[in-house]
Amino acid sequence: MSTAVVLLTRDLRLDDNPALAAACAAADRVVPLYVLDPTLAGLSPNRTRFLHQSLADLRDRLRKLGGDLVVREGDPVAETIRTARDTCATTITLAADVSGYARRRERRLAHECDRHRIALELHAGLTVAEPGTLRPGGGGDCYKVFTPYYRSWSAARWRPAATAPDRLTLPDGVTPGDLPALPAGESPHACEGGETAARRRLTAWLRHDIEGYDDAHDDLPGDATSRLSPYLRWGCLSPLSLARTARSRDAEAFVRQLCWRDFYYQVARVHPKLSTEALRPAADRDWRYDTDALEHWQDGLTGVPIVDAGMRQLRDEGWMHNRARLITAAFLTKHLGIDWRSGVAWFFRWLLDGDVPNNSGNWQWTAGTGNDTRPYRRFNPIRQALRFDPEGVYVRRYVPELKGIDGAAVHQPWRLPEPERRGLDYPGPLESHRDEAVWLRD
Ligand code: FAD
Repeated sequence: MSTAVVLLTRDLRLDDNPALAAACAAADRVVPLYVLDPTLAGLSPNRTRFLHQSLADLRDRLRKLGGDLVVREGDPVAETIRTARDTCATTITLAADVSGYARRRERRLAHECDRHRIALELHAGLTVAEPGTLRPGGGGDCYKVFTPYYRSWSAARWRPAATAPDRLTLPDGVTPGDLPALPAGESPHACEGGETAARRRLTAWLRHDIEGYDDAHDDLPGDATSRLSPYLRWGCLSPLSLARTARSRDAEAFVRQLCWRDFYYQVARVHPKLSTEALRPAADRDWRYDTDALEHWQDGLTGVPIVDAGMRQLRDEGWMHNRARLITAAFLTKHLGIDWRSGVAWFFRWLLDGDVPNNSGNWQWTAGTGNDTRPYRRFNPIRQALRFDPEGVYVRRYVPELKGIDGAAVHQPWRLPEPERRGLDYPGPLESHRDEAVWLRD
């Protein structure tokens, strides 16, 4: 009887899971293992809760196949090797990842596998195209600009989907281990984790919204994007299966967004310090250190309603609409002049979909230190608000203090007649910002 361990990390699903499929192909007995890593535990209560929900769901799904999810806690490398040795496993499989932390973990695991004469196999699975497989024609380790990457990504042959197991057997004597009690998150309206919830969301999205995506994805009150990002982040959904399904529906605008996700993965693979080091150091200008302004931004109390609505959606749901992410991030970096790293950290704490490649890649894009071909572009929040929330519905949804203001007037409460303005329990635009803010008055 041969045994393989599959170390699950951000691929918490049965569908199209190449590392799991390879373990099933390599051995008669398979140990699906998740190691709760104390180093990552405190980063984001929202994501920790989502992770635990996803693990509970995966355990149920594996049990239906006759297997189980084996849960351990501690250093992932030590625990994986211990599990492999206890079960006499000859192979460990794992989805290759790109962040600095994940790659150090992979290297340490490779070293230990070598020492213990266990085969280690790294597989695809976190993206549509494997990071590093598409290279720019003129040389270089990764594409720096999106459009040529998208062209090459679209033309590439995608790998075949991995078959989901229909049966799974654990080696005798393995104790699965308990999942700790479900931890509390911070956002009252965060979505639920797991492959089952992901498939529910996907079905609804395919039935109602995918056809209109191209026209509606920037419409803030319409809320017409897929909201699948947390499931992609944790691998509750296969990005490859999703891209294939979307392509079969001719939803190329949506497929293109999935390509953005892959784009930042291939950037992060080459730039493991993407969260702290600017891709274009020359643009990493003298940022202002204004704790007061930063806290107003974090609390959704800048006095600019569209910015505050986005920041409050983030806290309420652990998710924010992409258009609002652009507006709030540009406001922090280009209007308040505050370092993009502060924004990275705040989003990283709250976002269910928060990950290094997409969070840091997009922050750098917005701040002008990254892969934007027009790094000096500014987003005027009022113009953005009038264009993408023309009736003010999105703002009133998240900023209840402004509920009584009808229509687009809600975007500029400082323009209301004095008596109405005085009655509002809502701040005026930030002091530190007001002098420069000619745009607030025109
Ligand atoms: P949809 O519009 O339905 O798009 C489908 C999928 O495409 C998304 O789920 C996502 O996986 C991918 N996608 C869409 N837009 C982008 C993009 N600009 N960059 C990369 N992938 C994209 N996305 C994350 O997944 N994690 C993050 O930590 C993250 N941080 C961000 C920070 C900032 C400052 C900005 C401007 C954007 C960030 N994004 C991040 C990208 C984007 O905002 C989210 O992916 C999107 O809002 C998720 O909602 P959705 O699933 O409804 O997207």
